[in-house]
This record gives sequence, C-alpha cells and structure tokens, in this order.
Amino acid sequence: MIRSITQQKPMEEIEHLLEGMDRIFVIGCGTCTTLTRTGGVEQVAAMAEDLSARGKVITGTTVVPVACDNLTSDILSEFGARMNQADALLVMSCAYGVQTLASQLGQMVVPAQNTLFIGKENAAGQFNEICTQCGTCVIGETGGICPVTTCHKGLVNGPCGGTNNGKCEIDSNKDCAWTMIYNRLKELDRLDSMRTYKKPRNHLGEPSPGKFLIPEN
Ligand code: SF4
Ligand code: SF4
Repeated sequence: MIRSITQQKPMEEIEHLLEGMDRIFVIGCGTCTTLTRTGGVEQVAAMAEDLSARGKVITGTTVVPVACDNLTSDILSEFGARMNQADALLVMSCAYGVQTLASQLGQMVVPAQNTLFIGKENAAGQFNEICTQCGTCVIGETGGICPVTTCHKGLVNGPCGGTNNGKCEIDSNKDCAWTMIYNRLKELDRLDSMRTYKKPRNHLGEPSPGKFLIPEN
C-alpha cells in the first residue's frame, strides 16, 4: 500500500507559522501519519503538550480517520465549537490532508509536517520512494524497477562509472539501481533490453499543475 511520507517541521518553524495565533486546535491523521508516527494519537498529544509549554492555549485535539478524505469535514463537525474557539488548526497530516481541510473549513490551517514523498512499505517501518511520477515511464524496459527514482542520478541508460560491487557510489548502503535492473533482466532472460538507447529525458512529461479528466464514452 502506498503511503504519504512526512517529517515533522522543526518546532521553531511551527512556532513561527503560529505567530500571533494563541489558540490552537490540533488535528492528526489516522492513516499515513499514524503509521509513520508523525501525526497519530501519541504525536498529537505530545504536540499539544509542547505547544502548551510554549504558551499556546489548546482548544482541543483529535485524530481523524483519513485527513485527505472529503468526509473529514463532516467528522470534524462534532468539534465545531472547539475549532471555532481556535485561531488556527494545526494539522499533523501530509500536505494533501492539509489542503483538503483548508478547502473545506473556513479557518486558518497550518501544516506541522513536511511531505517528503509517496512511499511503499518494503519492510515493517521502512518506506522507500519507488516512483517520482515523472510522466514518461521507462520501467517497461527495466524489468519493472524505476531508475529515475531508484538511481541517485536518475540515469536511464545504464549505470554511472561509480557503481561498486552492486552498491551505489553516492550511498554505499543502497543497492545500485542499475545492478538491480541488470539482475532482474537477467532473471527474466531480457538482458537485450539494456541495449535499447533511451533519448535524453524530457522532464516536462506533464505540465504543472497536472490534471486528468476521464474521457466520456
Ligand atoms: S519512470 Fe519511474 S518515476 Fe517515471 S513514471 Fe515510471 S516508475 Fe514513475
Ligand atoms: S551507482 Fe548506480 S544507483 Fe548510484 S548513481 Fe551510479 S548508477 Fe545510479
């Protein structure tokens, strides 16, 4: 299952974002930030305590099931009075959740997290980015392993000169993406794919902001 991977902003930055706002309601998310322990029940309680110690009044806290779901504003309606007493809602979810709440609630919304990437859980508690959504997918010729994301240099035509015993020259704890691709293609008896030259990448795969409309029949 994919997860939005977040990291809490330094408290000094959160304090700066909350400058002039004395009364705060803290909202966590029961999905991604609970799993990554950046915005679950314990982290929300710790944040409330920390903000209290810094002189803020906490008008309430809650952890909603899925902050990025449109139903979240309905779920939050039971906290309407406590939220209305607040100058700002501090949201401990990914930016998708923060934006969802900002679009639905007529209140100042402040993110407590930096959203890093969409991650796949490879082992308990270990998340790796596997796709940077580049818009021009090459994994049909790399055995399903993405070099754009998995190679530190984003190389699409084979390894750089620094690969060393299957490890990456930039991070020796990490397998070289192109060694992984070579091994996978060898297993699949498709090593000939390595010989296909890929043109220089057009990084404008999808103009930003991206949009997609399901075509009508
Ligand atoms: S090439 Fe990699 S980054 Fe680009 S769409 Fe495919 S998997 Fe995602
Ligand atoms: S060693 Fe491998 S993964 Fe690292 S930058 Fe070079 S080709 Fe990419």
